[in-house]
Amino acid sequence: MKFYIIAFLIFTSFGVDIDKNTFSNYREVKMQHLHIEWLLNLRSKIIDGSAEYTFKVTTAELKEVHLDIYQMEIKYAYYPNVGKVLDWHVESDPKQSLVQGDKLIIKLGQSYKYGDIFQLRIKYQIGEAARALSFMSIEQTDDKKAPYLFSQCEANNCRSMIPLQDTPSIKFTYSATVLTQDSQINVFMSGLPVKNNKFALMEQYNMNGIAKIFQFELNIKIPAYLIAIVAGTVQEKATSQRTSVISEAKNIDIYQKELEDLDKYVKYLEDYIGEYKWGFYKIVILPASFPFGGMENPLLTFANPSIIVGDKSGVSVAIHEIAHSWFGNTVTCNNWSNMWINEGFCVFLERKGLLQLFGEIDYVYVNSQVGTKEMNALIKEFNSSTDPVVKSYASLHPITEDHNADDSFSTIPYERGYQLLFYLESVISEIKFQQLLKDWLRQNEYQSADENDFYNFMIVWIKSNFTIEQFLAIKQQIDTVYTKWIYDTGSPPVKLGFINDASIQATDLAEDWLSSRPGEQPQGFEIFNQFKSNQKQLFLSYMQEKYTNLNTITMKQLDLSYNLSDNKDAELLFRWYTLSIQTKYATTNTNLNKIRTFVGKIGRMKMINPIYKALDKNTAQTWYNENKNFYHPLARQSIENIIKSKSQYVNVELL
Ligand SMILES: [Zn+2]
Repeated sequence: MKFYIIAFLIFTSFGVDIDKNTFSNYREVKMQHLHIEWLLNLRSKIIDGSAEYTFKVTTAELKEVHLDIYQMEIKYAYYPNVGKVLDWHVESDPKQSLVQGDKLIIKLGQSYKYGDIFQLRIKYQIGEAARALSFMSIEQTDDKKAPYLFSQCEANNCRSMIPLQDTPSIKFTYSATVLTQDSQINVFMSGLPVKNNKFALMEQYNMNGIAKIFQFELNIKIPAYLIAIVAGTVQEKATSQRTSVISEAKNIDIYQKELEDLDKYVKYLEDYIGEYKWGFYKIVILPASFPFGGMENPLLTFANPSIIVGDKSGVSVAIHEIAHSWFGNTVTCNNWSNMWINEGFCVFLERKGLLQLFGEIDYVYVNSQVGTKEMNALIKEFNSSTDPVVKSYASLHPITEDHNADDSFSTIPYERGYQLLFYLESVISEIKFQQLLKDWLRQNEYQSADENDFYNFMIVWIKSNFTIEQFLAIKQQIDTVYTKWIYDTGSPPVKLGFINDASIQATDLAEDWLSSRPGEQPQGFEIFNQFKSNQKQLFLSYMQEKYTNLNTITMKQLDLSYNLSDNKDAELLFRWYTLSIQTKYATTNTNLNKIRTFVGKIGRMKMINPIYKALDKNTAQTWYNENKNFYHPLARQSIENIIKSKSQYVNVELL
């Protein structure tokens, strides 16, 4: 009983955190199940869609359903059983239409009361304006046989492919039927494939024009942003009984080899956090225009081919995405101001997995240090902004109201969130914190939560797992930092350096270069070639921090010594290329043309945005014009923002 009183007091002191980035009336009526039916016309870049919803009423009287939509054509809404057509209209704020979309209002024609369950259907059409979707022409694919389609719904982009309650607060089961007109095209979705036309068709089609029908279902509740589709000449190759790789044929053997240990990575994480409950784990290596490193769609992780380096050094992205199976996909943030509830926890679990992969904590700490450097640089930039919205991006609780939630994404929720959990672990011990996380998952399984929920849970947990004296001391220690860590826009209240031998090796070498005479290599410079990829990243991050001390002669010597401009590891390339522009080493005689080629071959925002940011406005505009058609709509939006404002902040990827 005492625990409840404590929890109640704390909860009321924080207040309720609702999602301000949805136009839906999700607190009055909740989607329980969604079934979609899509006819893909990839050559015309058009999808005819139907969606059927099962809603449950959670208010005393309900007369309307409000859904999120973005740039789609609504045809009609109706009750499926009686076929009764319903009145609907779109409420649109011109300032918001292209930012967060519009509100679709459906008048139900009757009142529903608390607890009622009813179904609705909507018929609609989407096309190239759907910002979640990348429609690729045949020429843009590897196999050059058929068009290609892939989605990216996080954060609020699912509303551009399905009218729905587009909020991570609402979780529902879903199923899908996808019809294709080209027999070469395979389809995968973030659910299990279902055979034998389990779901009857909702619409009538001229079946002469239908080549294949695919069906999927997911019986675990997920938020809208985890719905995903890939369609093209893609195929699947197993890497174990429960893991597989999906891609176009051209490179699938290379991908399969690089990701042959997927099952081992799942086991690393299970060892720490408990059973993997989603059954299969599949990873799609998408075309290089995929704007992120990875996206944790359940049963269908998406990844950028830049994670395939040839030496398995990029697999930490796969481990990160697997870690989302627990943090993000099982317990989900309840709005995008709490994204660290997904990403901070996920990075924490990822690094527990990396400890098993690397075998030494030092190498894990190198990753933490690279992340900390990026975080510190961003905190400095955001915190110096005079715009309170941009300033809030330095905290773990960014302001997202009236904005596209994507704008607030950066490495901050990942690293600042990770650091908070790392600190909390140090306060209550590794073993106790591991148990706390397992219990957090169990208590919040398939639900959404925020920082208040975590705080309340943690305090109650600590009270029941320590003596009263210990509890009071720990609580005081946590209370000193918790709200500052989350809401302050300055550096976290405790400085964590993650200094260790492996990182000192990298930063010492960088220092030696910075203090070497122009044209001379420092003693022992060859050690760089023995570094792990993350040490090399740290070396370059350190150089970037102090780039004003670097001259072009030293840059040339670095390039010659380590063959940096022609490296195969994109994690190193983008840092080196950015540094090359910052130090003015990049010219047509050195590596400027290679950088130009790089931004035309890869669309991962983490890797191209810093380059666009470093370029002068004219060059950035020219290069962007050359590659605009190749980039995903989200990358386009982000680069256009960079060019328009040449602002000091950059969207860093969602891993
Ligand atoms: Zn992530």
